[in-house]
Amino acid sequence: MDINNFDFKGKKVLIRVDFNVPMDKNRQVTDDTRLRGAVPTLKHVLNVGGAVILMSHLDRPLKKLLEDGTIDRNKYTLRNVVKPLSDLLGVEVKFCDETVGEMAQKMSKDLKQGEVLLLENTRFYAGEEKGDEALAKSMAALGDFYINDAFGAAHRAHSSTTVVAHYFDKDHKCFGYLMKAELDHAKKLTDNPERPFVAVTGGAKVSDKILILEKLLGEVDHLIIGGGMAYTFIKAQGGSVGNSLVEEDRINTALELLEKAKKLGVKIHLPVDSIVADAFDNAANTQMLKSDQIPSGWMGLDIGSEAIKEFVEVIKGAKTILWNGPMGVFEMPNFAQGTHAIAQAIADRTKKGAFSLIGGGDSAAAVNQMGLGDDVSFVSTGGGAMLELLEGKELPGVAAVMS
Ligand code: AMP
Repeated sequence: MDINNFDFKGKKVLIRVDFNVPMDKNRQVTDDTRLRGAVPTLKHVLNVGGAVILMSHLDRPLKKLLEDGTIDRNKYTLRNVVKPLSDLLGVEVKFCDETVGEMAQKMSKDLKQGEVLLLENTRFYAGEEKGDEALAKSMAALGDFYINDAFGAAHRAHSSTTVVAHYFDKDHKCFGYLMKAELDHAKKLTDNPERPFVAVTGGAKVSDKILILEKLLGEVDHLIIGGGMAYTFIKAQGGSVGNSLVEEDRINTALELLEKAKKLGVKIHLPVDSIVADAFDNAANTQMLKSDQIPSGWMGLDIGSEAIKEFVEVIKGAKTILWNGPMGVFEMPNFAQGTHAIAQAIADRTKKGAFSLIGGGDSAAAVNQMGLGDDVSFVSTGGGAMLELLEGKELPGVAAVMS
């Protein structure tokens, strides 16, 4: 079960990694965080004498076909990852133009101890996202062992993330170091977290976060709600929110959540004030107003200074912190202040001994943007997967390795 207990010497080790990296228009990798995340697992297998065969998806090529209905292979090939990965590993990575098939079989078979082979984008195959058995079986045939180190894709029951694992018995499959770190850190939040436990949530929509909000209410001491989703709650309480983002069909849900929090004794913190703008534009006119007194024609795009003060104060008292979702439209510099203040407060509190987990996606981007990645306890690489894990769901990619 534990990667450290397996003997990979002279064996072919098939590893599912998450190399879904951002690239610029020349298809150069612009952020190699995900490549670096896989390195410890790959180096371990190489150091103990194994040969590494890598599978990953990149984007959703079948959803973005060329006009003639074919896959844009130049754009979505994983070949562009070969050079940066070779540099990181100090090993010349070989590349195969297919994930499965005769060539993949031959190249895998010929692979020697200490060598690395990267297979082509798993999502070039229609069966991948459907969890196709035949495809998974062909993948499984390439390796003696299977390692899943792709946490960001673990909530998907795809051929390469889940179904393939069923073709290996429990003595021939395990998690990689990155995956294990994600699962271990998530456990710190779900198994007896140190209190006070503060969750900071934000982002655009209540509808995307209902399950996690409900679950968190049963576990946290304080729930901070910022970002666009706060305005549905403020409106539910009778406030005027002008043209701020509101999900009318979630107003009742918001009321139910507020009611539930009261019953459970969880303190919900909504932004008392907001930076409001007269357009969804960085250059828009702005003013700071009470969040429940926003006139028509104005929209809340960031939390205000009183809200920042209150949220920071709550974070200062926390022993365990989860953060998911920005406090405002942080992509626009004029509305990034709240998100940056929260990131800084979480980093400061972590220095004082709190455990902090940044739940992937935009909050992870904000923390990394500010260079605070090393100042928090853990930055998750999988936004969707981490949310599902914290919601209490079993991730298929995790279950398939454990079975
Ligand atoms: P999510 O993916 O749900 O975490 O949402 C992230 C997105 O929410 C980011 O792109 C933010 O720009 C957006 N967002 C945050 N606050 C607001 C707001 N007050 N109004 C509109 N969009 C927001």
